[in-house]
Amino acid sequence: MNGIAHVVARKELIQIGLKTWFERNARDLPWRNSKDPYLIYLSEIILQQTRIDQGTPYFLRFANEFPNIESLAAATLDRVLKEWEGLGYYSRARNLHRSASLIVELYDGVIPADFEQLRSLPGIGDYTAAAILSIAFRKPYAVLDSNVIRILTRLSAFSNEVSSSLTRKTLQVFATDLLDHKAPGRHNESIMDLGALVCRPKNPDCIHCPLNQFCLACKSGHPFGRPMDFPVKKKRARVPHYDIAVGIVLNQNEEFLIQRRAEEGMLGGLWEFPGGKRESGEMLHESCRRELREELGIDVAVGEALPPVNHAYSHFKITMYAFHCSIQSGVPISKKGLPVRWVARDKMSDYAFPKANRALFETLKIGVPLPERG
Ligand code: SF4
Repeated sequence: MNGIAHVVARKELIQIGLKTWFERNARDLPWRNSKDPYLIYLSEIILQQTRIDQGTPYFLRFANEFPNIESLAAATLDRVLKEWEGLGYYSRARNLHRSASLIVELYDGVIPADFEQLRSLPGIGDYTAAAILSIAFRKPYAVLDSNVIRILTRLSAFSNEVSSSLTRKTLQVFATDLLDHKAPGRHNESIMDLGALVCRPKNPDCIHCPLNQFCLACKSGHPFGRPMDFPVKKKRARVPHYDIAVGIVLNQNEEFLIQRRAEEGMLGGLWEFPGGKRESGEMLHESCRRELREELGIDVAVGEALPPVNHAYSHFKITMYAFHCSIQSGVPISKKGLPVRWVARDKMSDYAFPKANRALFETLKIGVPLPERG
């Protein structure tokens, strides 16, 4: 019998173990006090790629600012991005906003209780659809995220590398086979909590795990088991690093020049100081001058540098070098047709900026960055 079959053969005992453990140990999370599909949907989008402690204040703020799907759909994208500021992965905010409009338009403001309809909405993948359907509508869909993968691969001592789509399909079938059809939402939440609290990536607490008697990774190998060998992952490639040069341009009214990023793509719809990547062999001040000419059609004199800012994104890192600049000729107009504005110092905080730009605010004495927003 392979590892998966070994575990599935014990599924009733595993379901009971999870249920009993969850009744005593479930995390007290604000969205769990409600079965409102909208709030569950909101929480699931916010928690994609985000830790619970970081996402919870954003969930509370969104639930307060946009208490239902209609209010979210009616808000401007700028307002939604502003509320999202600091949480990262801004495509989630844009998709949330677009999906809210579609739900109002196509489903009369009612979150659909159908897998395909949910999946067709921007930003809703298999995991999010399964979470909404199981938790809000008690439908038998199993979630599969990194927490669940960790538990399943450890339980079954699953030795295949987990990033391939074929392996994902195998694990999705495995998760579905283990699902407690009487309470799919609770089952999914219990396995998520077990992954966060007990079967942690490092130092899993196997001694207190309700599933330890069924777990092949914990039993096999040396006396303390080998859970850390699972899931089997590819070695990570080196993360690339880029230097970014940006211009801090003020006009005679002491207003800052900022531009809005295109809505499609990374950090879409956010505002930023103009600039871009340093090209190979280029001096940083040259990059700054070239970027402002290419992006906005202005020639600038590049002056004093601000302290550099380091920032890590999911797939690369940057160091941002900002320079005070003054316009020598030209009027700033985006070559790509994007909005460009002059904004007074006390109005800058009304705009949503990426974290690396926002890190310059203190040096530039623009308000104070909001610490609780990460
Ligand atoms: S026994 Fe250990 S490795 Fe196995 S599921 Fe529980 S915490 Fe994870």
